[in-house]
Order: sequence, then C-alpha cells, then structure tokens
Amino acid sequence: MTTTEVENFPGFPDGITGPDLMDKMRKQAERWGAELHQEDVEFIDVKSRPFVIRSSDREVKSHSVIIATGATAKRLRLPREEEFWSRGISACAICDGASPLYKGQVLAVVGGGDTATEEAIYLTKYACHVHLLVRRDQLRASKAMQDRVLNNPNITVHFNTEAVDVVGNTKGQMSGIQLRRIDTGEEKVLEVKGLFYGIGHTPNSQLLQGQIELDSSGYILVDEGTAKTSVDGVFAAGDVQDHEWRQAVTAAGSGCIAALSVERYLVSNDLLVEFHQPVREEKKKEIEGKDVEMGFDITHTKHKGQYALRKLYHGSPRLILVLYTSPTCGPCRTLKPILNKRQAKPVA
Ligand SMILES: Cc1cc2nc3c(=O)[nH]c(=O)nc-3n(C[C@H](O)[C@H](O)[C@H](O)COP(=O)(O)OP(=O)(O)OC[C@H]3O[C@@H](n4cnc5c(N)ncnc54)[C@H](O)[C@@H]3O)c2cc1C
Repeated sequence: MTTTEVENFPGFPDGITGPDLMDKMRKQAERWGAELHQEDVEFIDVKSRPFVIRSSDREVKSHSVIIATGATAKRLRLPREEEFWSRGISACAICDGASPLYKGQVLAVVGGGDTATEEAIYLTKYACHVHLLVRRDQLRASKAMQDRVLNNPNITVHFNTEAVDVVGNTKGQMSGIQLRRIDTGEEKVLEVKGLFYGIGHTPNSQLLQGQIELDSSGYILVDEGTAKTSVDGVFAAGDVQDHEWRQAVTAAGSGCIAALSVERYLVSNDLLVEFHQPVREEKKKEIEGKDVEMGFDITHTKHKGQYALRKLYHGSPRLILVLYTSPTCGPCRTLKPILNKRQAKPVA
C-alpha cells in the first residue's frame, strides 16, 4: 500500500496512514496464527498441484492461493515527478482530493478516458477550477462522461496537450505544470497546485500470465461473489482484480470473500488442515481431545470442537444442533444468534 493518509477506512474517524493500517492488520492476522514473510514472490505455478509459490528465500506448496498483489498506478515519468509525488502529484483523486493541500485550489487531471473525466468531475467538489489535459484531439470517455465534462463550467479541457514537467516555487511547493501542445510544439506553464493522474493502472498479475484468465488490461477475472478465478483453488482479491473501485475498504472486503471461499474450497475438497495457535499451558488441557482432526467420524451423532463443527457445517446436509461452550469459538459465535432466534420462536 503506497497510500499515505487514509481518511475513509471505517473505524478510523481521525484517519490513519496506509503503513499504520497495514501494521494493525498484520498484528491482527498474526494474533490469529498467520505467518508473514516479507519477500518478493518470483514464481508461481498453479498448473500443477499442489501449487508452487517461490521467492528467493523459500518455496511454499499449497492447495489454495489468494492473489492480492494490487495494481500500480501508471506514471508519466516527468523529470520532477518523484520530488512532488504525494506533495502535489497524486494517482487517486477520490483518496486525496479533499486533502487541505488541494482544497480550494486550481488543479489539473491528466487523461482522456472514463477515469480521468470522473476524477475531474469529482475534484470540482473541492477545487476552485479543474483543467483536464488530453493528449488526443478528443476524449475516449463514454458519451455521458464527455457531456458532463464539456458542460461543466468548472472544468477546462485542453486537447492536444501533454504535461512535460512540474514546476515548483521557492518554498519547494508545486506551483504549476509545464505544458506542450502536441500539434504546434508550443510550450507554456499552467499554474496549478495539484496534478492528478487518470491514465490507468497496471495490475500486478504478470506472474500468473498464461496460467489464469486475465482481461485485456491484465486484471484477473474473478467470479465476484466468490473471488474464484478460472483455476480451481486460485482466488484473487483487491486491486489486482478490480479496475473499478480500487479502495482500501473494497480491497479488504474482497479479501474477506476470498479467505472464506478458500476455507470452503479446502473443506469441500477434503484438503483442510486445521491449524492451531500455540496455546497457553493452562488452556492446553481443556482443549486437548476436543478440537482435533484425529478421530473425527462424520457418521457419529455427537462431536466436539471447531474442527468437527466446520466439517459438519460445510460438508454435511444434516441438521446440526450446536451447544455453545467457548467464547473463543468463531463458528459458535456466528451460529449463536441464529440458534437463539430459533429458540425464541414458539413451536406449533
Ligand atoms: C496515492 C494513493 C492514495 C490512496 N488513498 C486511499 C484512501 O485514502 N482510501 C482508500 O480507500 N484507498 C486509497 N488508495 C487505494 C488503496 O491503497 C488500494 O485500493 C488498496 O491498497 C488495494 O489493496 P490491495 O491489497 O489490493 O493492494 P496493495 O495495497 O497495493 O497491496 C499489494 C501488495 O502486494 C505486494 N506484491 C505485489 N507483487 C508482489 C510479489 N510478486 N511478491 C510479493 N508481494 C507482492 C505489494 O508489495 C503490496 O504490498 C490510495 C492509493 C494510492 C496510490
């Protein structure tokens, strides 16, 4: 996540930085037993089973995998781009438009498609004026978006125009963009306080090319309701499969769908390996013998533990009556209110 300030993630009324949000998510995942390795995956093979995932440090074999490698915003590679990145240049109007850096200022958006036009319209909520810089002599956006942009008095469209560089003032702040007319070669400085890129994203799906179905731009094609890709056992979440919404909360939501789908996939294919966190000594005795895979027989009437509950819930058409015993049992907690409702209903 290259995001700096995240103002719209639920649960953080004062906003949170991208790295802090990731840190909190990492700690939460670790508390529940996830093992994290910070390294680049260099090779994935989902054509053979189990799947193979390899980095320079290790090779992991898995029955299922979630691809959540994100998407990288395309950049113009202007000479002073790095200097002003996140300090005048942004790749996300929805994320950054309301920031004090841009509020009430004259801003520019680069691009001629639906993303750029949508960003320009969105920015008029906060900016005092928006310039849309379009390389071609026409917009590629849908007719409806074109009409909205061309009829908006707060947007000026500059056709046949490209940004050549960013201009700064003596305080080191962005003060304008050096523009060039494609048709005449004429150059001039446009005074703006912010430049937004609306020129698309590149999904980080290169490692899967030729192995799973991608769309023409490289986004992983998924079934929206289940996060399934074209290969059984491979799921995708976040921006690598979403060219539309691209928000932290939508990425997290799709990650949740993918994780639950993985569990369902493993159970239905009899591949689930129950993982147990290291347990404190005093708790150990209590849990031992209740929650283990060994000895589980689906034909028995009475079972104990989360493993059995999951197996029965996902793998058996039988009616299950759950005796809720442990406050730390996730599936029990989910079922408790449903069972309570049933109990409250008078039996005819
Ligand atoms: C400047 C900016 C500001 C933004 N502000 C906001 C905001 O305010 N609110 C909001 O909701 N959204 C915001 N977004 C969008 C938000 O950051 C994304 O929608 C979200 O992070 C997507 O999550 P993701 O997990 O799909 O991808 P990412 O967060 O991009 O995570 C993908 C991860 O995969 C890793 N990865 C990629 N390839 C490999 C590999 N081969 N091996 C190992 N790891 C790999 C990457 O290093 C990265 O850590 C912003 C985006 C940008 C660029």
